[in-house]
Amino acid sequence: MYGPLRPDPSLPPVRINLYSDTQTRPSPAMREAMLGAGVGDEQLGLDPSVNALCERVAAMLGKEAAMFLPSGAMCNSVAILTHCRPGDEIIAHETAHIIEAEGGAPWALAGARVLGLRGARGMFSADDLRAALTMPSRYAAPQVLLEIEQTANLGGGTIWPLATLRDLVGIARAAGMATHMDGARLMNAVVASGISAAAYAAPFDTVWIDFTKGLGAPLGAVLAGSADLIDRAWRWKQRLGGALRQAGICAAACLYALDHNVDRLAEDHANARDLAAGLAAIGGLNVEPPETNLVYVDVAASGRTPGDWAAALRAQGIMVSVMGATRLRLCTHLDVTGTDIIETIAAFHNLA
Ligand SMILES: *Cc1c(COP(=O)(O)O)cnc(C)c1O
Repeated sequence: MYGPLRPDPSLPPVRINLYSDTQTRPSPAMREAMLGAGVGDEQLGLDPSVNALCERVAAMLGKEAAMFLPSGAMCNSVAILTHCRPGDEIIAHETAHIIEAEGGAPWALAGARVLGLRGARGMFSADDLRAALTMPSRYAAPQVLLEIEQTANLGGGTIWPLATLRDLVGIARAAGMATHMDGARLMNAVVASGISAAAYAAPFDTVWIDFTKGLGAPLGAVLAGSADLIDRAWRWKQRLGGALRQAGICAAACLYALDHNVDRLAEDHANARDLAAGLAAIGGLNVEPPETNLVYVDVAASGRTPGDWAAALRAQGIMVSVMGATRLRLCTHLDVTGTDIIETIAAFHNLA
């Protein structure tokens, strides 16, 4: 699903980077905050900045405890390893990041397979989940974990309604399953919906947020849950090499991001809406109305492939991503301005 990104020195420099919100660069003020960070041995629990970050994220998500990890993918793997044993089954949407973009980690690391459920916009219903549950028996793989992505990335940056999440978790719990939220873009959902991070996180046993997407930090993600679960998760963090030393340098960037880069996600959402409206006026482009900062454009009716579009835009210094056989993804973030949006729409017009 995710297209490869090969740097090509023969191309002009990228002026407008809509490839992903992972492309954000730490700002001068964020670098200042990193410079002054208190540090210690993270593995021993002695890094004051990491401790402050974990306490703050745990409180924000309404959980007892949290751990700092280098990446969101490692949060997913540590959580899956903590919840699952070899032979277990995880239920997720068929477009979930854990299926599409983590190198088969649930299978490779935990020995757990992921059952992908269908559904429009990256979501499925309570009935879909009920239909996927098997009768516990000695034949079927134990279904142990429900995994939900907020926002649903390949679904279009869509926001799972809180009521749906509560229903799904209720069904999963009744079936004896644990629940995990991939909150790579949870803060986008929070800012767009006005619903708190703690409310979205409440039904879930484990939940994490990423600092390297729209929050603009160079690395880092925080996984939260009960004190017992995070304690057990520490063994996997250690095993995977995720235990760190003077990580406070990076945690300081994450703390800076919580102070300065959350509310401004609303600007990214406004830019995404403007971009979608501009592109929707161009014949041959089928634009999915964005709910947050991801704009998906189906180009099938344009007579050109997403790869053709991406190459033509890249030749003008505009980078977008190719998502599958017919779709482009354009992602707004803190390094994309309103002027960039106007220029991007104009570039599409000229190519159409
Ligand atoms: C980016 C992303 C991840 C992985 O996060 P990294 O910090 O890049 O490892 C996981 N899930 C979703 C939905 C993502 O968009």
